[in-house]
Amino acid sequence: MPVDVMVVSPHADDAEFGAAGTVARWTQEGRTVVYVICTNGDKGTTDRLLTAERLVAMREQEQRAAARLLGVKDVVFLGYPDQGLEDTPAFRKDIVRQIRIHRPEIVMTSDPYRRYLWHRDHRVAGQVAMDAVYPFARDHLAYPELMTEGLEPHKVREILFWAAEDINYKVDITPTFPMKLAALRCHESQVRELPFPDLESWLRQRCEAMAEGEPFELAEGFHRVEIPW
Ligand SMILES: [Zn+2]
Repeated sequence: MPVDVMVVSPHADDAEFGAAGTVARWTQEGRTVVYVICTNGDKGTTDRLLTAERLVAMREQEQRAAARLLGVKDVVFLGYPDQGLEDTPAFRKDIVRQIRIHRPEIVMTSDPYRRYLWHRDHRVAGQVAMDAVYPFARDHLAYPELMTEGLEPHKVREILFWAAEDINYKVDITPTFPMKLAALRCHESQVRELPFPDLESWLRQRCEAMAEGEPFELAEGFHRVEIPW
């Protein structure tokens, strides 16, 4: 069954920071959403007593809980090491495979063009997801072995990049802000490491700033790219 939206997230929790309010809105409207989590998050702690193996298991559980809360249909974990994403044919093929399996209309991912301070995995995942959408998922001669697996080419209609500096598309998340907050709180191993004690007011301020000039109170902002071919 084709889905409406595929979210390609570098780490567990990135999709919640970037897009959970929009995801919640869309699932409430009956759209189907799947998550693809690129890394296993095995470096994401300052706790020296926590093993990488235990952290990976925690983060997978946290991501499943957040996805359940948001009404996400399925979560796929690609399992690349944290801080280990590279723009390789193998990683690109993994994303192409997921696009051809799930056949989304919209792909959401991390903006690779955010300048200066930006996690390498966020930059690489966004870049590779974009390349996978266009042209690799579309062209039958790209990764011809996927065709022999029965995975036909697929045209994605648009990409929405979160964490964009150049926002050209805003979604009113006023009604689903509490769900975004609750989904973020599922990522207990991550939110406890944040440098601000009051997650709710920090998040509200960010979403208010993104809604500036709009007739609604809280927004998530994206850079939207339509794929005409
Ligand atoms: Zn991340």
